[in-house]
Amino acid sequence: MSTFQELGVIPEIQRAVTELGFEQPMPVQSEVIPRLLEHTRDIIALAQTGTGKTAAFGIPVIQKINVKQLTPQTLILCPTRELCLQIAGDLTDFSTYVEDIKILPVYGGSSIDSQIRTLKRGVHIIVATPGRLIDLIKRKTVSLGDVHTMVLDEADEMLNMGFSEDIDEILSHLPESRSMLLFSATMPKEIEKITRKYMKEPMEITIGRKNEGAENVRHLYFMVHAKDKYLALKRIVDYYPNIYGIIFCRTRKETQEIADKLMQDGYDADALHGDLSQAQRDYVMSKYRNHNLQLLVATDVAARGLDVDDVTHIINFGLPDDYEIYTHRSGRTGRAGKTGTSIAIIHTKEKGKVVQIEKLINKKFEKREVPKGDLICEKQLFNFVDKIEKVKVNEAEIERLLPSIFRKLEWLEKEDIIKRMVSLEFNRLIEYYQQAEEIVEPKEGSSRGQKGDYGKRGNDRDGGSRQAEKGYARLFINVGKMDGINPAMLMGFINDHVKGKVPIGRIDLLKSFSFFEVPEELAPKIVKSFKGMYVDERKLQVHLAQEEDQASRGNKKKFYENDFGGKGKKKKPKY
Ligand code: AMP
Repeated sequence: MSTFQELGVIPEIQRAVTELGFEQPMPVQSEVIPRLLEHTRDIIALAQTGTGKTAAFGIPVIQKINVKQLTPQTLILCPTRELCLQIAGDLTDFSTYVEDIKILPVYGGSSIDSQIRTLKRGVHIIVATPGRLIDLIKRKTVSLGDVHTMVLDEADEMLNMGFSEDIDEILSHLPESRSMLLFSATMPKEIEKITRKYMKEPMEITIGRKNEGAENVRHLYFMVHAKDKYLALKRIVDYYPNIYGIIFCRTRKETQEIADKLMQDGYDADALHGDLSQAQRDYVMSKYRNHNLQLLVATDVAARGLDVDDVTHIINFGLPDDYEIYTHRSGRTGRAGKTGTSIAIIHTKEKGKVVQIEKLINKKFEKREVPKGDLICEKQLFNFVDKIEKVKVNEAEIERLLPSIFRKLEWLEKEDIIKRMVSLEFNRLIEYYQQAEEIVEPKEGSSRGQKGDYGKRGNDRDGGSRQAEKGYARLFINVGKMDGINPAMLMGFINDHVKGKVPIGRIDLLKSFSFFEVPEELAPKIVKSFKGMYVDERKLQVHLAQEEDQASRGNKKKFYENDFGGKGKKKKPKY
């Protein structure tokens, strides 16, 4: 194994990467860095995100910049704003001790004027998404005539997102003599076309085998009737108590619906999709990145910008039609030397897809049965016991209270205390699984499932299925204690926005969402009054707690219109 020094990296950058905790180069870096430093030739690198590819191209491009010449010398193109910011941030980190180097991220959705001002002052490296760069080229505020190195990152994603023509346009503004480095996780035919068109005798470097899924990712599938997919999802999530996962859905609507159902059922979940504003997406992503969210329910497009190393599970809520997308999804786990699991919840018709994906990733899926209730309870129980063993006891903080607690529990044996503690935590889960019907696995070959039916029982863990008082409707709202909501605020808001005095029934404030009861006849009006409202960038969603199932079966009445991504004017409630 070589060192960064042996690869020819200058001491200033060695110092920066050491401070970032990089002890040794990763394989893609050992392959790419010396080649890019020594030669000016075209390189195709097949490497997934998480392999260390940003440093592989970032370190040599920084090193090859002539800082005295204040013109763009390297252009890095990438598909999304988030990736653009991430790459520019990484490059800035690598160049901490390289004096006077100027790196500019150029992306849509932010002020073009400030990007123009920075360009006028002069930059060396531009990291850009295609659309905004073309805009700047058209305004003649950027000149690419001195670019000697061009990097296309996540080239397959760029093509998936329809950037092919934009890439053509951008390349026409670069000098013929530039060298090009193309990174891609997969090698579809379209990429081969690009390489033929724009690269001269490219050298091909493959980190891992071509089109192969990451080595340390296990692939599992669960086959259920379509109507049981959501219930199976809940069981799988319950079976992995320490899951930190991403659940991929096919459409924005399905993403929001699944996230809402999980939230109502008491899971720590949230949605990420294109119907949310950029600020909302940033908020959800940062919550997830910081581990303040356990389950992210996302569309493929919206999750592109998310770069998280320690995802434990990827759950495919159905398999994509484009199998390359599966490779991208599963490549989000098992990173940075960790192991990961990619799970597909499929119905019988999708079995063929499993076989096709196996060929593509050159790995077999393991078929699993949806965990039975008793197994889930056992797993959760042992996880809880494990936590009790490992919990850090803050002696100083509880010392004062302990004598009275001991006195109060004096009459109980140790075994009794343990039993009670476990019951306190688990009675509800055990009862739920005692009552829940087991999920019947369909016979292979049969395909009688109802599309879009997420299960009828509406059982949940935190109150969504509680019956409302007679004459009252129980409403769900997607904010809770974490958002600083309290009963007075909720009541105040409703009464400020609905004519007459509204008697409000039971309010259950939970961590990230809540339930409240209002007179049945006023419920539609109240739901409407929340439309287009925000609490700290979070768009409020209010709907009937128990009619969710009907809504997701396409029975949406005006009650639900616009609930998912309606265009309400952004206003803040008077909380
Ligand atoms: P990337 O594939 O560029 O997204 O990198 C994946 C992760 O690996 C990032 O969190 C990097 O900071 C980290 N990383 C990159 N190179 C090294 C290295 N040589 N040693 C340790 N970690 C690294």
